Amino acid sequence: MKSNDSFNTVIVGAGFAGMFMLYRLRMLGVSARVYETGSDVGGTWYWNRYPGARCDVESMQYSFSFSEELEQEWEWSEKYSAQPEILSYANHVADRFDLRRDIQFDTRVTSITFDESHNYWTIKTDRGDQVSAQFCVMAVGCLSAANLPDFEGLDEFEGSIYHTGEWPHDEVDFSGLQVGVIGTGSSAIQAIPVIAEQASSLTVFQRTPNYSVPAHNQDLDPDYVKSVKSSYPDLRAKARARPTGFYFEYDTSPALKATAESREQQYEAFWARGGLPFLGAYGDLLFNKEANDTIAEFARKKIRDIVKDSETADLLCPDNVFGCKRLCVDIDYFAVYNQPHVRLIDVSDKPIERFTKKGIIANDIEYEFDSVVCATGFAAMTGSFDKIQITGRDGLTLKEKWRAGPRTYLGLASNGFPNLFMITGPGSPSVLASMIQAIEQHVDWIADCIGHMKDVGASTIEAKVRDENDWVDHVNEVSQVSLRSTCSSWYVGANIPGRPKVFMPYIGGFPIYVDKCNSIMMGGYEGFIMAGSEKPTTPPQVRCTERWHVELDMEVISPAAIAANRVPIV
Ligand code: FAD
Ligand code: NAP
Repeated sequence: MKSNDSFNTVIVGAGFAGMFMLYRLRMLGVSARVYETGSDVGGTWYWNRYPGARCDVESMQYSFSFSEELEQEWEWSEKYSAQPEILSYANHVADRFDLRRDIQFDTRVTSITFDESHNYWTIKTDRGDQVSAQFCVMAVGCLSAANLPDFEGLDEFEGSIYHTGEWPHDEVDFSGLQVGVIGTGSSAIQAIPVIAEQASSLTVFQRTPNYSVPAHNQDLDPDYVKSVKSSYPDLRAKARARPTGFYFEYDTSPALKATAESREQQYEAFWARGGLPFLGAYGDLLFNKEANDTIAEFARKKIRDIVKDSETADLLCPDNVFGCKRLCVDIDYFAVYNQPHVRLIDVSDKPIERFTKKGIIANDIEYEFDSVVCATGFAAMTGSFDKIQITGRDGLTLKEKWRAGPRTYLGLASNGFPNLFMITGPGSPSVLASMIQAIEQHVDWIADCIGHMKDVGASTIEAKVRDENDWVDHVNEVSQVSLRSTCSSWYVGANIPGRPKVFMPYIGGFPIYVDKCNSIMMGGYEGFIMAGSEKPTTPPQVRCTERWHVELDMEVISPAAIAANRVPIV
C-alpha cells in the first residue's frame, strides 16, 4: 500500500500500547494511523509464541482497565494465562473497538523526520508509504527487539534455529528431536519444561543462573472471578497505589528485624503463594544487601531441595542479588533437571565457541542438535527505537542523542524531538510496573495533552533541556538506592555487548511517578515548551487522566524514596 496521507497522529506499533492509543485518539476525534510490522495486533503476545509463554502478573490484573464492559465480559481461564489466551484478548479488544480499520499491518516504519519549518513529521515505511503527521507516538515496546547474538558459524548450522521472541506461527514439533536451548532468563525458564516433554534430549546452555519462584498456576475459580469483577475499581485503585502498579499483599517490615525462624516461616508462606509477590515478603529486600542475602539463601536452598544432582544444583544456584535481574516465575523449571534426558552446560567462564553444521561447540565439546532455541532476550527499552531513523531538530537523530544512554523527560518525550511521544519509554516505570497499567497511564496523559493542544491551538510541545536533565539525574540517582542497579541485567543494557550501562526504567515507584505526571499536566505542562498558542498554560481539560489520581501513602509507595532519604521525592 502506498499513501501520501496526512494524519493528526501516527502511532508506531499495535501491541496493547498502540491499540489503546488509537482508541483514545478516536475519542478525541482526531485522525490517526497505526503501522505495525506484524500481521496482526498483540505485540509481545503476537511474537512470543514459544511453548510455555504466559504472563507473570495475574491475568485479572494484566488486562485493560479503561472499559468496564471489557473488564466484565472477558473471561480469563487461568491465574497466569498462556500466550494464546492473551493474544485472543488482544484480538477481542481490536474487534470490540473496531481498531483494525486504522492499522496497517505488515508494515515497518523505517524513518521519522521532523520538518522544522512546518512543524510536522514525515513517516516512511518499508512498503513505500510516506505520510505526514503533527504527532508521532512510539508504541514500539520495551521488549520487542529480539537479541540474536552474533554466534560464529550460525549460518552453517543445518538444523532449525528459533528465537523465543520471533517464534513461528506454525506449530513447532520437537518430538523425538535433540534440542539445545541457549539462555536461562524468563523465556527459557518457561519454555524448557515444555520443550522437555517432547524432545528426546534437551541441552541447556547457561551463562548466568537465575532465581525463579514457582507460579503455582491454577484454573481460576469462578467465585474468585465473580468477586474480583464485582469490585474491579477497588482492585485497580489499590494496584495503582503500589510501586509495581499491581496489587498483592506484602509486608513492609524489615527482614533483619525478624528472627531467623520467623523469617523462614515468612519465606515459606510467600513461596507457597508463589510468583513475583514472593519479593514482598519484607520491605527491605531490594535495599539492604544483608536482608537480600537471607531471601537469596532461601531460594538457593529450594533449588538444592528440588534438583537431585548436587553438581547441577550448584550450577543452577545464582550468587548475585535476589531480584536484581528480573525475577523469573516458573512451572516446574528446576525439577526438569532431574529428567535423564535434560542436561545443563555451564558457559559462564568460557562463552559458546561457535555453531557448526551439526550443533554447537562449547567448552571444547561439540553438542549435536536438530534444533536450537535462542532464548537470548531483547535489546531492551531502546532496541526498537534504534531500528528507526528518527531525526529531530537540527538533523539530530535519537540514536545519536541516546548514544551514552537514553535521555527523556518522564520517559514520555525527549528534547529536540517535538510532538514525539513515547509509551513506557526509558525513564518511566515501564518494565518495573505491571505494564498494561503503565501503558494506560501514559496513553491517557498523551491523549489529554494532544486534546489540550487542539483546544488551545498549539502547534508543538517539546521537553525543556533543563527539566529533562533533572529528570535523567533523578532517574539515575533513585536507581542507586536499589540493589537492582548493582548487577548485569537488561535493565542496564548489560545483556548485550557495547550498549551503554545505564539503569533505564524509573525505579521510584508507580504512584509517585503518576503524581508527578499529573502535577506537570495540571501546572500547564511544566518542563515543556508549548508553542503556537497564546494560552498554552491554561489548565487542560482532563478527559482521560482523572482516573489516575493516586493517594500517596509514603510508607507503602516508595521504598526507594524512603531508603534513600537523601533522594528528592518527586
Ligand atoms: P509490544 O507488545 O512489544 O508491541 C510493540 C509493537 O510495535 C510490536 O508488535 C512491534 O512489531 C511493533 N513495532 C516495533 N517497531 C516497529 C516499527 N519500526 N514499525 C512498525 N511496528 C513496529 N509485562 C507485564 O507487565 N506482565 C507480564 O506478565 C509480562 N509478560 C511478558 C512475557 C514476555 C514473553 C515478554 C517478552 C514480555 C512480557 N511483558 C510482561 C512485557 C510486555 O512487553 C508488556 O506487558 C506489553 O505487552 C507491551 O506492550 P506494548 O504495546 O508496549 O509493546
Ligand atoms: P533475558 O532475561 O534477557 O534472558 C536471556 C538469556 O539468554 C539470559 O540467560 C542470558 O544470559 C542468555 N544469553 C544472552 N546472550 C547469550 C550468549 N551470547 N551466550 C549465552 N547466553 C546468552 O530474556 P528473556 O528470557 O526473553 O526475558 C526478557 C524479559 O521479558 C523478562 O525479564 C521479562 O521482563 C519478560 N518476560 C516475561 C515472562 C513472563 O514470565 N511473563 C516471560 C518471558 C519474558 P545472561 O543472564 O548472562 O545475560
